[in-house]
Amino acid sequence: MPLNSALIENARSSITSQFDGNIEILKDLVRIPGIAWDAFDAADLDASARAVHNLFEQTAVFDFVETRTAMVDGKQGAPAIVARRAAKNGKPQILLYAHHDVQPPGDSSAWQTNPFEPSIKAGRMYGRGAADDKAGIIAHYSAVQAIKQIAGSDFDLGITLFIEGEEEAGSPSFRNFLDENKADLAADVIIVADSSNWSETVPALTTTLRGLVSQVIQVKTLDHALHSGMYGGAVPDAMMAMIRLLASLHDDQGNVAVQGLHTGLAADLEYSDADLRRDSGLPATVSQIGSGSILDRIWNKPSITVIGIDGQSVALSSNTMLPSVQAKISMRIAPGQQPERALELLRQHLESKLPFGADLTYGEIELGKPFESDASGWAKQLAEQALSAAYGHKSVDVGIGGSIPFIADLTEVFPAAQILVTGVEDPDSRAHSPNESVHLEGLRNAMVAEALLLLSGNELTVQ
Ligand SMILES: [Zn+2]
Repeated sequence: MPLNSALIENARSSITSQFDGNIEILKDLVRIPGIAWDAFDAADLDASARAVHNLFEQTAVFDFVETRTAMVDGKQGAPAIVARRAAKNGKPQILLYAHHDVQPPGDSSAWQTNPFEPSIKAGRMYGRGAADDKAGIIAHYSAVQAIKQIAGSDFDLGITLFIEGEEEAGSPSFRNFLDENKADLAADVIIVADSSNWSETVPALTTTLRGLVSQVIQVKTLDHALHSGMYGGAVPDAMMAMIRLLASLHDDQGNVAVQGLHTGLAADLEYSDADLRRDSGLPATVSQIGSGSILDRIWNKPSITVIGIDGQSVALSSNTMLPSVQAKISMRIAPGQQPERALELLRQHLESKLPFGADLTYGEIELGKPFESDASGWAKQLAEQALSAAYGHKSVDVGIGGSIPFIADLTEVFPAAQILVTGVEDPDSRAHSPNESVHLEGLRNAMVAEALLLLSGNELTVQ
């Protein structure tokens, strides 16, 4: 059923009437450098939480607005804002998620503007967090204002707000937070506004995420270091064994060579060699790796990257054969793959390819579940209509080759909830990098889409 055109017009005019003011609010949020890493001042993170708390409190839409924390490993987690307005008359409860913490600014010389002083140039706002994910916060805020303005302050839809404060630090207390606040956070639909659109003009729902399996390994061939001039040629050193083992992880084309790993469903979007080279900076003289469509390789198939090796630094190297070497293998796993099984397959591979009877031991592991959204739920269908109407372009399904670990937690704690991962970013947003920015027209459309989603939800009876 298509959305009613009066509703679309109302949503657009409400969002437009508040837009300039909300962009000023977004600037104020960007000016607060709330970073959840230990090396940064926690007072900034508190200030950031306070600003978000006050912002949503003054909407006067919620039954309560509170700033809460959860403990993890004896440490207090970062402050998160939880607000709830209970659904009435059988209407759905929709949870709006974003995060108020940001990435550290990184290399300051690479920024063309001050990362914490927002500036607008050619239709984009530049600043750390302007896109990731303070744009998500302001999109939620705008949508809440719009439903109040259009449906009146007595509307029936339930809205829960959850703005966490440590996403960029890996959400350490997130799972405990969910468990402790389960009753207040329970919802029929969870909107995670922390992803990217397909382009500035083509909206997208992120329907798959790859999972992660990482494994530290140690390869040992000798009891102690040896003079390479005395024994080289007859005795294998650990670096040689490690290199050969790691090389076995890919075939000659660069496909993952670990047998038995799962591949997800194929993507149906176009992404060319030129697109890949432009977006990744891959030089013209360096070839791609792997086979099959590019999007399937980065979204729906496993990939393996060796992300660290501890041997000897070049500066300290001498003509010595290393007795043992450590490496960290990072594997992205396809949507639908269990991480525990993928780890088992990786280990079987390593054990079967270990050269020269070397000794292999396993160190630290990390397991993150992949994500596949429920395509059949009403929320996905409504979100597609709202996005398509707001952007004037049909919404597409995209994957992400990386992981958003907290999404796996959400699916575990709230298995019945429909999760929509929506975008406020676009491919030029450079989240996590210098010169992060948000496309303002795209952001306005994201606000209209979310307002439409809330307004349509308000007219839907689910129980
Ligand atoms: Zn984010």
